[in-house]
Amino acid sequence: MDSTLISRFADIVGPENVVSHKTNLSVYDCDGYTLEKSLPEVVVLPHSTEQVAAIVKLLHKEKVSFVPRGAGTGLSGGCLPIDAPVMIGTSRMNKILHIDVRNRYVVAQAGVVNLWVSNAVKNAGFQYAPDPSSQQACTIGGNVAENSGGPHTLKYGVTTNHVLGMELVLPDGEIVTIGGMAEDMPGYDLRGITIGAEGTFGIVTQATLRLTRQPQSYRTFLAVYESVHDSTQTVSDIIAAGIVPAAIEMMDNLIIQAVEEAFHFGFPTDAGAVLIIELDGLAAGLDPQTTRIMELCKRNRAREVRVARDEAERTALWKSRKRAFGAVGRLAPNYCTQDGVVPRTKVPDILRTITSVAEKYQLRIANVFHAGDGNIHPILLYDERNADETERVVKAGQEILKACVDLGGSLTGEHGIGIEKMGQMPLIFSPEDLLLMSRIRSVFNPDSRCNPNKIIPMPHGCIDVRMPRRQVPL
Ligand SMILES: Cc1cc2nc3c(=O)[nH]c(=O)nc-3n(C[C@H](O)[C@H](O)[C@H](O)COP(=O)(O)OP(=O)(O)OC[C@H]3O[C@@H](n4cnc5c(N)ncnc54)[C@H](O)[C@@H]3O)c2cc1C
Repeated sequence: MDSTLISRFADIVGPENVVSHKTNLSVYDCDGYTLEKSLPEVVVLPHSTEQVAAIVKLLHKEKVSFVPRGAGTGLSGGCLPIDAPVMIGTSRMNKILHIDVRNRYVVAQAGVVNLWVSNAVKNAGFQYAPDPSSQQACTIGGNVAENSGGPHTLKYGVTTNHVLGMELVLPDGEIVTIGGMAEDMPGYDLRGITIGAEGTFGIVTQATLRLTRQPQSYRTFLAVYESVHDSTQTVSDIIAAGIVPAAIEMMDNLIIQAVEEAFHFGFPTDAGAVLIIELDGLAAGLDPQTTRIMELCKRNRAREVRVARDEAERTALWKSRKRAFGAVGRLAPNYCTQDGVVPRTKVPDILRTITSVAEKYQLRIANVFHAGDGNIHPILLYDERNADETERVVKAGQEILKACVDLGGSLTGEHGIGIEKMGQMPLIFSPEDLLLMSRIRSVFNPDSRCNPNKIIPMPHGCIDVRMPRRQVPL
């Protein structure tokens, strides 16, 4: 990297907000998808939209590619710099700019951590509904880029259902506003298309987020099963009964053991699987649904169904669930979290496939996922020092995703395509579809300098990254 460019970044954001020493850069070499790594040459940490625009204008003039990064909790390598020497991190753009409870919105800078929004409006009786399990760390900008979901997606929807508008710095440095404060805007839905663009349309610098009233009451159950099959059959039966809980989460035995060892909630470590089921709403309406859910759990041989006795127990239960990925570190030195989606009724089928893939590739695969949405997260355990095992993890992951597609599902439920799944896009899209998508991207990002080499595989192109060496031809 040209040192004059680095000193011009320093002029814009201050030298303390530019990272260029190799040792300090090493923390930016991957996100939560650690199978592939790639170092940026410099990381710039602006505080404001104006600073982002000035950096991006400079990069535009010099024809240098860049990649946006929030907290780096992404699970598909979305913020990996591939042929993009400059990383623009939003971690210092961390202010909630405006709270309007009467009109039910908050304006937050892109680097604000998801949970901070709900914390800021909690005393007024509101919440920001999308609650990824990473919500203590992930940023609003990252959530917008990935169209993130979370356990409560089942009832409340994903990020796109809760973002009214945003400010975006386009790859030439122009600042644009998309959407607004109103519920609907005339014209094409540019807001909708930008959410989930995985940072390939520009850098989101702030977003206007819809607030949702906190539910009056909750019923949160822990249902314990001998087998994964019985738990997933319960999920299908609850949905088929026309009940829409706020959340249905599943953890299998490997996860239960890791979580219990880490957090001592009181999960039965001999259980085959547990479901966490939450109903919310007006207290008076919850009792009949509670009875029905209890019946369905029992009909599917749940050996125990516990209801959280108070808010403290409910909070502890969710804390354990949301920290489940962290606990997986107890099971193996490395893990890869896959993310696919199947129609809800196919959850038992995909779980069977995951078991047979684990046997075929001689891997341990743990499962913790948003069962109510059909959004699976098999966690493939491995040791990156074992090259053969690492290779098997990549192949097993690909086979699971192909099975999701074959069952009528898709390649990602919420973690995005990033670098990880580009090679599998042709499983669901024709070359014409992919070409059309790249044309849409060109409207925002004509030279593909903003987060290049992501999402859309190029015909006859290949992406090469450090570890494991992967080539993704179309
Ligand atoms: C333990 C754990 C649990 C998780 N649970 C969930 C879950 O329940 N639901 C879920 O959906 N995801 C989950 N994730 C995945 C991840 O947390 C989300 O994708 C999250 O939205 C990423 O936010 P981030 O700030 O870390 O973004 P990053 O990882 O930094 O970036 C993700 C993508 O967004 C782009 N980006 C980041 N900021 C901006 C910006 N300001 N403008 C434009 N593009 C930007 C990046 O270029 C990249 O492509 C989990 C991850 C972990 C590690």
